Amino acid sequence: MSLFVQKFGGTSVGSVERIQEVAKRIATSKDQGNDLVIVVSAMGKTTDQLSALAQQISSNPPQREMDMLLATGEQVSIALLSMALNELGVAAVSMTGSQVGIVTESLHGKARILEVRTERIKNRLNEGQVVVVAGFQGTSLSSGGTAEITTLGRGGSDTSAIALATALNAEACEIYTDVPGVLTADPRKVPDAQLMSSISCDEMLELASLGAAVLHPRAVEIARNYGVKLVVRSSWTDEPGTTLTSQSKRPLGREGLELGRPVDGLELVENQAVIGLSHIPDQPGVAADLFEQLSNGGINVDLIIQATHEGNSNDITFTTSQAELTTAEKLCSNLIARLGGKLRSQGEMTKLSISGAGIMGRPGIAATLFDTLSRAGINLRLIATSEVKVSCVIDSKLGAKALRAVSEAFELNDIQISINPQPITSSQPEVSGVALDADQAQFSVRNVPDKPGTAAALCSSLAEAGISLEAIVQSERQHEDGGRDISFTLKKEDKKLASIAIAPLLAMWPKSQLIEGPAITRVSAVGAGMPITIGTASRMFRALAEVGINIAMIATSEIRTSCVVAEEDGISALRAVHSYFELEKPQH
Ligand code: ASP
Ligand code: MG
Repeated sequence: MSLFVQKFGGTSVGSVERIQEVAKRIATSKDQGNDLVIVVSAMGKTTDQLSALAQQISSNPPQREMDMLLATGEQVSIALLSMALNELGVAAVSMTGSQVGIVTESLHGKARILEVRTERIKNRLNEGQVVVVAGFQGTSLSSGGTAEITTLGRGGSDTSAIALATALNAEACEIYTDVPGVLTADPRKVPDAQLMSSISCDEMLELASLGAAVLHPRAVEIARNYGVKLVVRSSWTDEPGTTLTSQSKRPLGREGLELGRPVDGLELVENQAVIGLSHIPDQPGVAADLFEQLSNGGINVDLIIQATHEGNSNDITFTTSQAELTTAEKLCSNLIARLGGKLRSQGEMTKLSISGAGIMGRPGIAATLFDTLSRAGINLRLIATSEVKVSCVIDSKLGAKALRAVSEAFELNDIQISINPQPITSSQPEVSGVALDADQAQFSVRNVPDKPGTAAALCSSLAEAGISLEAIVQSERQHEDGGRDISFTLKKEDKKLASIAIAPLLAMWPKSQLIEGPAITRVSAVGAGMPITIGTASRMFRALAEVGINIAMIATSEIRTSCVVAEEDGISALRAVHSYFELEKPQH
């Protein structure tokens, strides 16, 4: 007999009729001989309505009381669903988070799950009952040892479901919702977006804004870490939906189910070369031309970074393997001869990357990495950040030293460290999906000292203020006195806070100056096959050039290529990339 955890969202249990429909669906699954644990959200907009009630009484209600209030929503839906099941002759019992034993930290309003005690559920399952569990809530043991009700944060029932599936070692966790699964793009922006039959958890995390609309990101994080099969599918049809996959299979440890190490991988790739072109024209099509020539020459480019500068010129920096350096240099010189610009290349470089689902939304992690390297006196030639990975390129002579320092800082053990790993060659799409992140702003800090610790200082100041950088780029060109520019993008809402946070640094760097760029948006293409496919980035740049869109900034990581464009170009850029990679064709 197989055990499944099935979660039904608020819309799926939004009315008596829908609850009865869901009950029928569960009854069918039970008839097929499955053991079932059902997780439900509050009915319809209940949680919003409860929050509104609280706001009428207090603009700042105690978090503990908010949890007491919001947790009632799910208690209604579990009881009703359980009744509906019993009505159909299916033995079912409802349980709150604390009855089940979902133990969380004591932080009200956004508690993380520490442990799921499974005895009580297992007993009920052994008796042949369907167990209906309230999502979004748990119980903490407060300092005095008294149990308190906690909630996991809005949208948290997905996280309850996957945590239960992990603890119970279920066959799969199925999230039933009002969309058919994960699509190649947001269908409100790209009408011909298609359903994906599967996607890796890493890709889903990299498509943050697209993914978060479908699943609570913390749920994806758990599925990724413990390798639990997670399926998103429609509550109203029998279509299979989208399966999320993960290679990793971390054992359930003593660290707390959701609190495990945010960084769980460290990778060193040696024999890399960095090629920098500066002072090339800032106009649509230049990046496309450059990377098309490289890909026609058979060169697989890894990281690409570009930022706009004063005047009408750009710097573009990329990495490739040492073996391809000479050919790449030749191809770049051809371009420069035609368009103007300068070339500077450097071999004997090493790329160091940390990875982990927990990097997402925790700005302190990149800061710790940069800080660790700067303390070891290591200068960062290039930085590339993504949702689940932070990479930097350093002098290869310092590789071993960097590896030691970083593995110590993140307490990583030998199995988590890989040196020159073989790329995965299974057939994965070069682009699975595209996403648009609007509401972004670009900042540049001009003329900062070019020495170890500069990027680290900048990142730490921002991280301390709780600000996540979306992309960070160091300029290729140098000012007369040797200073460089550092540009980064961040959420628009963080702009004010960011200027305050870095003011003390600007005061320490007398020649530096903070410059705020125009409103921007970021288009990202994500694909697990990207690292082993030649020319993906060039195709993305070509897609934008064909519709005349200028790229203000490029920041790639292994499985993601992101281009920053003007805000008004966002939707057309997204559509252009979606159709260039033929994502409108069914099934990838
Ligand atoms: N009912 C909660 C909310 O609306 C939890 C959930 O739906 O996942 O945020
Ligand atoms: Mg939800």
